[in-house]
Amino acid sequence: MNRIEFINTALVLLGLSRFQSNKNMNNDPNLLIGKGNPKLVGKNYALLPEAYEAFREMSAAAQKQGIKIKIVSSYRSFERQKSIWNSKFSKFKSQGMTNEKAIAKIIEYSTLPGTSRHHWGTEIDIIDAGPPAEGDVLVSQKFHDQGPYDALRAWMETYANDYGFFLPYTQDKKRTGFKYEPWHYSFATLSKPMLKDYLELDHVKLILSDDLKGSDLLGYEFLKNYIRSHVMGINPSLL
Ligand SMILES: [Zn+2]
Repeated sequence: MNRIEFINTALVLLGLSRFQSNKNMNNDPNLLIGKGNPKLVGKNYALLPEAYEAFREMSAAAQKQGIKIKIVSSYRSFERQKSIWNSKFSKFKSQGMTNEKAIAKIIEYSTLPGTSRHHWGTEIDIIDAGPPAEGDVLVSQKFHDQGPYDALRAWMETYANDYGFFLPYTQDKKRTGFKYEPWHYSFATLSKPMLKDYLELDHVKLILSDDLKGSDLLGYEFLKNYIRSHVMGINPSLL
């Protein structure tokens, strides 16, 4: 055993994994890809405590103006995201799509396990619980043109930033990646440093697995481009 190997072994024995010895990285890689065990709080949803407090404050302020913010999706694990991916892949394949087409269709709105911002406990998908919910709720038209969530969108566009929440997937024509999602907000105080650490990870090693459908098309090049277009294709306020 040479000197470096000896030091590495000693660090492992001391329980210091690579990320802990890297001074620039504050977040456990497992937490960033949805495989950790984060301490989450909330009823009917799950967020990191600081995001939860900020959400409660924002929600109370909205309520005073007649907007009842309801979270329909928050934390999501790697396994959950994988089952969403695999079931969408099977569905699109059964509609006669090629593997390439199925993947292109999935990544309009959904993402690969290990690449979702929902893994972080900082993200929320919201609707207004006031109007009756009919069919699919996360549809952008419903957030515009006098749709049931038009008032919620307008309120969030005015006030959300004051509480630290920002829209990652804006209508900005120059943005790449996922389509416009007026329902998805991110708690920037936590998600910005998490993204910074996330971009340092070895994505190929952490994301790809044999039981991921379409994984034969999802090699190094695909992932490299995907991280650039989709993970980084967000509102500049969150970069
Ligand atoms: Zn979302």
